[in-house]
Amino acid sequence: MARDNPYRPFTPDPDQMARAPDISGNEVNGLGETDMRRPRPVYWATDPDQIAHGEMQRWFMQNSPDDPRFTEQRKRRQAAMDRPLPELARSRLEQGADAWLAALQAFCVPGLAEKVGVARLQDDWLYEGQATAFLRIVVIGVQHDYAVLSHAPEIEAGGEVMRQYTRAVEAAMAVAGWLRRQGWEAEPVTGPMTGKLALIPPALASGFGELGKHGSVIDRDMGASFRLSAVLTDAPIRETPAVEHGIDAFCLSCRICEDACPPEALSPTKRRVRGVEKWYVDFDRCIPFFNQHQGCAICIAVCPWSRPGVGQNLARKLARRAQRQARADQT
Ligand code: SF4
Ligand code: SF4
Repeated sequence: MARDNPYRPFTPDPDQMARAPDISGNEVNGLGETDMRRPRPVYWATDPDQIAHGEMQRWFMQNSPDDPRFTEQRKRRQAAMDRPLPELARSRLEQGADAWLAALQAFCVPGLAEKVGVARLQDDWLYEGQATAFLRIVVIGVQHDYAVLSHAPEIEAGGEVMRQYTRAVEAAMAVAGWLRRQGWEAEPVTGPMTGKLALIPPALASGFGELGKHGSVIDRDMGASFRLSAVLTDAPIRETPAVEHGIDAFCLSCRICEDACPPEALSPTKRRVRGVEKWYVDFDRCIPFFNQHQGCAICIAVCPWSRPGVGQNLARKLARRAQRQARADQT
């Protein structure tokens, strides 16, 4: 039985719903499809006319509060994206993969970002119709101020999400510039309108953690309380491996986000999406609430892993439990 939820029942704004297309967002996402295929952009398109839910995306932008925290961050984000990247240096810095990774981490953390990972780029992360010749992806994570995010879905939390999106853009532009000054081509990929590829799969592959029931990545140190950006490059940086902390199993016996989600968009079981069983957010239920509440973010705010310090303790506890179980299995 779900606990009381102050935002239920939720009634979508009729003006918003008049803009909903005939096709379900879950269908665009490939819910129930048994064959693997590349993703299609369902939301946050660079050009809203190119997606079925473009009018709902426009409604979100028009419906944003007339608040300086939002307008200022949008301006700063756009200015950062418009800033030209430095010229590509004529000579390339050549060094070993470990030296590259150490230099990247020193450049990014702390200050520019809270976490950085590197993965070999996979074609199936690209949206249908997109292509790239780059070999690697640098994934960048910037953490929300949890004290502010915990007010979700109030306006403060929406403002904090916008602030971190700006930081994520600035970090991606800075890393791309840093690589180009060392003679390596680099292409920033910034959100929320990434255009080229989905950022969750490379984040998982590069050691940011596991997918939670709320459909966001859970990192041991930041929980789900962070935003992502990325840089595509050929620079031979050491790839950082995927990690597991037992979060997937933890989600099976936790239902905090399920109970907290006003439109009941989160499911107690995994769903098949484009040939893969995974945690899935019901797009058609989530988006109307998300649009009416500054981007919502309730599910990432209530996730216990997002509370500062809690994720590290949980990961240690789960690791000890796994060791005990392994010993018991041997006897
Ligand atoms: S963001 Fe979507 S899935 Fe998460 S709590 Fe809000 S409505 Fe639910
Ligand atoms: S709130 Fe619980 S079930 Fe939801 S993602 Fe976090 S740990 Fe998993």
